[in-house]
Amino acid sequence: KEQDIKIIDDASHALGSSINGKMVGTLADVSIFSFHAIKPITTFEGGALLTNDENIAKSARLTRSHGMVKKQAWNMDMVTLGYNYRLSDVACALGLSQIKKLDKFISRRYEIAKIYDDAFKNSKYLKTIDIPDNIRSARHLYPVLLNSNLWCVKEDIYNELHAMGIGVQVHYKPTYQFSFYKNLYGEMRLDGAEDFYRAELSLPCHQMMSDDDAKFVIANLNELLEIYTSKSVCG
Ligand SMILES: *Cc1c(COP(=O)(O)O)cnc(C)c1O
Repeated sequence: KEQDIKIIDDASHALGSSINGKMVGTLADVSIFSFHAIKPITTFEGGALLTNDENIAKSARLTRSHGMVKKQAWNMDMVTLGYNYRLSDVACALGLSQIKKLDKFISRRYEIAKIYDDAFKNSKYLKTIDIPDNIRSARHLYPVLLNSNLWCVKEDIYNELHAMGIGVQVHYKPTYQFSFYKNLYGEMRLDGAEDFYRAELSLPCHQMMSDDDAKFVIANLNELLEIYTSKSVCG
């Protein structure tokens, strides 16, 4: 605020989440949600930009639709360069239907997360991430952090889980490791980001999962972690 710097919030995952009762989407000058197929709600592709700033809203609307403004009858003007970033009506219809279910989706994700929390509370192999009481998460992911003696075999564990039909993922590769940013800024290394990237594994946490699905994930993951811990040579 002192420097009058605008904040753009990449809230792609965070639809429906809040901190101290304030919804994500209202906290920054501009907040952006993704409605890609894997996000809290979907319109197949697309998203939304939220702002209270009239000028930013006007500029976003122009960018969305060819920089064009309607005048009268058939007359229109093109006042700036824009694109076709419009969401189709069909996608919007899906989004309107999905957003009604958002609270239900998140509540179910909390139930799945609770099953994981209870199962992994005293795990010898991994740490879970506690969500403080003043935060309501969208529970888009359920990330766990593997002990460092498992980091070098994470890819094997990942592959074995996928072979069982358990769609774990890893979030995220540090952005400075991408060649685009290497070309811009050169080689970089941030120890905290490196360690997080090596430790992190995201477990499936989705409203369509049954309790048994979550227990299937827990049983198979624990079994693998035990096997790999006993033969691990990491570090
Ligand atoms: C999904 C995602 C994006 C990209 O969203 P799109 O709708 O595919 O453009 C950007 N940032 C984060 C953190 C995301 O999770």
